[in-house]
Amino acid sequence: KLYNQVQDLKGSIRVYCRVRPFLTGQSSYISNVDHIDDGSITIGVPSKNGKGRKTFNFNKVFGPSASQGEVFSDTQQLIRSVLDGYNVCIFAYGQTGSGKTFTMTGPKDLTEQSRGVNYRALGDLFLLAEQRKDTFLYDVSVQMIEIYNEQVRDLLVSDVIITLEIRSASQGLTVPDASLVRVTSTSDVIDLMNLGQRNRAVSATALNDRSSRSHSCLTVHVQGRDLTSGAILRGCMHLVDLAGSERVDKSEVTGDRLKEAQHINKSLSALGDVISALAQKNGHVPYRNSKLTQLLQDSLGGQAKTLMFVHISPEPDAIGETISTLKFAERVS
Ligand code: ADP
Ligand code: MG
Repeated sequence: KLYNQVQDLKGSIRVYCRVRPFLTGQSSYISNVDHIDDGSITIGVPSKNGKGRKTFNFNKVFGPSASQGEVFSDTQQLIRSVLDGYNVCIFAYGQTGSGKTFTMTGPKDLTEQSRGVNYRALGDLFLLAEQRKDTFLYDVSVQMIEIYNEQVRDLLVSDVIITLEIRSASQGLTVPDASLVRVTSTSDVIDLMNLGQRNRAVSATALNDRSSRSHSCLTVHVQGRDLTSGAILRGCMHLVDLAGSERVDKSEVTGDRLKEAQHINKSLSALGDVISALAQKNGHVPYRNSKLTQLLQDSLGGQAKTLMFVHISPEPDAIGETISTLKFAERVS
């Protein structure tokens, strides 16, 4: 009875665009965004003869005044899928400062209202699991990892930084050596997310805002036992705050900074290649080209469901990155 909807049997890729509002002190700025409607966004593009315009289409566009609740609302059906035994990936893509962490986690001073997708997703997951308790017994565990310079690190251990292996695990875990913590409530998850963020911040001071140059991934593993048949369902959800997508001018950076930029570039284009191959139903999907796509292999394609939030900054001087972000998004949708 879980698989009664035909449309549920096929995987899906959806791409949503979110425009960050201007920040305090930017009230005199003029936005690059010309027009937004439910499924499209028109950008003013500087051109030789004045100003051109270009329109991009998405499954949905959220303007600068969209609330965290509105942005999350369509995500709720994905949470249901996880409990039904599907794999789900939710990504935040965009240049540094465009609002990725705001969407996934929230602002620094977090309130119930401003909580992002991660908190809301887990809240819904526990709520739905509770509603199904007469038919299913669910077990929920969490991993939190970071990919920096193509190295995988456990964010739930605070002491040493150990590089972890990724396995192609069709049954078990993809990163078997990362801490796997059982959780029974949203507040358990909040504690873990705080721990992960603290661990991430520790390296950030040492390495100068590493958080915008690494991918962080909160993975929620769900196992459900059908109380009548005894059958086991497994689903998982990856909530991914990607590294900043901005292109770095190779003539301006050297050494570590250049290496980081090359790693980010490589992994984001690998992600783009995988999703666009899936969107076009290509036979060959190039998962092996980055740690990120290897990590998510079981949850991208097949019956898995993918949701990408693409973020843009409204400032005039962000126009170059905005266009390249929207082009990336167009490629994967
Ligand atoms: P990123 O993670 O992409 O680098 P952040 O999420 O840190 O960007 O956002 C940059 C700044 O803009 C932060 O101060 C954040 O709180 C603020 N911000 C981002 N999106 C919004 C939004 N939708 N509404 C209000 N403030 C936002
Ligand atoms: Mg961020």
